[in-house]
Amino acid sequence: MMHANEIEAIKSLLASPKKIAIIPHRNPDGDAMGSTLGLYHTLLQKQHDVVVIAPNEFPDFLAWLPGSENVLVFEKNTVKCTSLLESCDLIFTLDFNALHRTGEVMEKVLSTLPTTTIMIDHHQFPDTYANYTFSDTAYGSTCQMVYDFIYALGDENLLNKTVATCLYTGIVTDSGSFRFPKTSSATHQCVADLIDRGINNSQIHNLLFDNSSYNRLLLLGKALQNLKILNEYKTSYITLSQEELDTFGHQKGDTEGIVNYGLSINGIDFTAIFIENKEEGIIKISFRSQGDFDVNQFARKHFNGGGHINAAGGKSNASLAETVQQFIRILATEKK
Ligand code: 5GP
Ligand code: MN
Repeated sequence: MMHANEIEAIKSLLASPKKIAIIPHRNPDGDAMGSTLGLYHTLLQKQHDVVVIAPNEFPDFLAWLPGSENVLVFEKNTVKCTSLLESCDLIFTLDFNALHRTGEVMEKVLSTLPTTTIMIDHHQFPDTYANYTFSDTAYGSTCQMVYDFIYALGDENLLNKTVATCLYTGIVTDSGSFRFPKTSSATHQCVADLIDRGINNSQIHNLLFDNSSYNRLLLLGKALQNLKILNEYKTSYITLSQEELDTFGHQKGDTEGIVNYGLSINGIDFTAIFIENKEEGIIKISFRSQGDFDVNQFARKHFNGGGHINAAGGKSNASLAETVQQFIRILATEKK
């Protein structure tokens, strides 16, 4: 947790009504949206004027989250969002630790603002842009950090069903439904508390995971057909071309979680998914590992990305085929 004096400073900042912007990372996932909206509903109860500004559109599978209808999208509404950012007293950045994770234009706006900024995040190697940095890689999710942050402020009475629903969402999605190694007794105690505060945990799972379109399942089928194994490197990978995405009417969020299938194979401890994005002219890559192989380092060193030891992402400007060839060449030196 933050130092007691930092918590005291934030408490006094929040003691009178403020104009507050809360920002998740670009291409926000369940943890980014859950943490920003959880904090949003908490701060609203403290009589602040609060807005969540997402860098770009969030996926449909999170559109049921309470308050998501009020989220502003910087990319779609740049002028309004910029002036809101310029006029606010306080900025929270959640689930990321480097301003470039908001995208080029928004990064430019944020990096020139003098506004007091609070970072809450669980990724490695935080940048130093924030006035108050709550960064801890021991946490499996930013949502669990926001939960502890609310308690540290002495605001646990504000953890109502709405806040708890948002926070539970990020804890479930970032922990792979409580299966990833950072899931601790503290995680389960937090979740027990959230259930006691009235969330419908089973319904949240349904909304998150049993709400697929037929096309999304067909896309998953295609991805699994494309799955390749490199036994000598205990590695697997999946590719999805823009054409394949188009064939199945790809919607934002449809590829979420597909990467994990590559790790579910016996004897495989490293996997990647390469997803072509013609519009942005890049290949978006997700990496996952089990055990000691550090995909954060791998992504940073070779694919202009980052993340955590066992889950990271990156990108490539080469073609899909060239990117995969490059990946396999790198494996020969990095993974024996
Ligand atoms: P995912 O593969 O699910 O998109 O991301 C896995 C983890 O890596 C997440 O914690 C995410 O924030 C991080 N990540 C994904 N893409 C990038 C990237 O391009 N740069 C950095 N620094 N982190 C990324
Ligand atoms: Mn997260």
